Amino acid sequence: GKKAKGWEKKADKKVEQAAVLGAGIMGGGIAYQSAYKGVPIKMKDIAQEGLDLGLSEANKLLSKRVARGRMTPEKMGDVLNSIDPTLSYTGFDAVDIVVEAVVENEKVKGIVLAEVEKEITEDTILASNTSTISITRLAENLQRPENFCGMHFFNPVHAMPLVEVIRGEKTSDAAVARTVAYANTMGKKAVVVKDCPGFLVNRVLFPYFGGFNMLLRDGADFTAVDKVMERWGWPMGPAYLLDVVGIDTGVHAAEVMAAGFPDRMQPGFKSATEVMFENKRYGQKNGKGYYEYV
Ligand code: NAD
Repeated sequence: GKKAKGWEKKADKKVEQAAVLGAGIMGGGIAYQSAYKGVPIKMKDIAQEGLDLGLSEANKLLSKRVARGRMTPEKMGDVLNSIDPTLSYTGFDAVDIVVEAVVENEKVKGIVLAEVEKEITEDTILASNTSTISITRLAENLQRPENFCGMHFFNPVHAMPLVEVIRGEKTSDAAVARTVAYANTMGKKAVVVKDCPGFLVNRVLFPYFGGFNMLLRDGADFTAVDKVMERWGWPMGPAYLLDVVGIDTGVHAAEVMAAGFPDRMQPGFKSATEVMFENKRYGQKNGKGYYEYV
């Protein structure tokens, strides 16, 4: 049979209680998915509006399931009851894993991680959902870097099956093992990757977006490219995908990738995606990107 990797043998305790920091698009999705799969979760934000948004997203997803007859109203009540929205760290000394999903800002994340580390036990795993920041660098803010790793979900969390678990320089096997086990409990497939710009998925995706932008430079029509990729069998083409991801998010991630792998970028080429960003076309989030959303 398959030989277990070092870290697989070190799976220790099961995650029975989780917490997520930040109740935005990702934090709300993580809270929903954890609760739905039976792991109660504290959802902490700094603003009540954030908590309300996270909860209303969960409510929407659950109501859809109930309307389709896939879930009883009782189960929906149970799931909602196992999300505990909070503005404080009360009870964080009883959680097995904390997933940090606050804004993508290295300084803010550094402060938040150092702050939460004081509220959890020496045995709690701390994981960041960052898309672009080095896990090894974030770990420099911590007293126990061995308990820290990346746990990168994709948007929308409930629908995307993959989670990247990122091992920083000091991450222990036990931290990787517990994070993978939690991802599996959440119904996700985990891949363990090294810490580098773009981790794994974005190292494939961003050269693809680069190729798409080169096609546009060569005169292609973006709607035609999207249609071709759909007919080829992908669920959506690159223009629509960029609108879903967010043009601003895409441009920022492309900068990180360019800094990490300068040999793989096209120097001196301003892409159509960058031009849209300059014109404040951010994608679905503000109603206009490659396409218009009304
Ligand atoms: P978002 O702006 O929707 O949510 C961020 C939330 O964090 C807000 O509710 C904000 O109030 C809260 N917050 C800010 N400071 C905080 C603090 N000190 N303590 C607690 N909460 C705080 O952002 P998002 O899109 O959910 O992204 C969150 C993280 O997930 C980022 O690191 C991002 O890179 C990553 N990510 C995003 C996507 C995506 O497609 N949106 C995909 C994968 C990973």
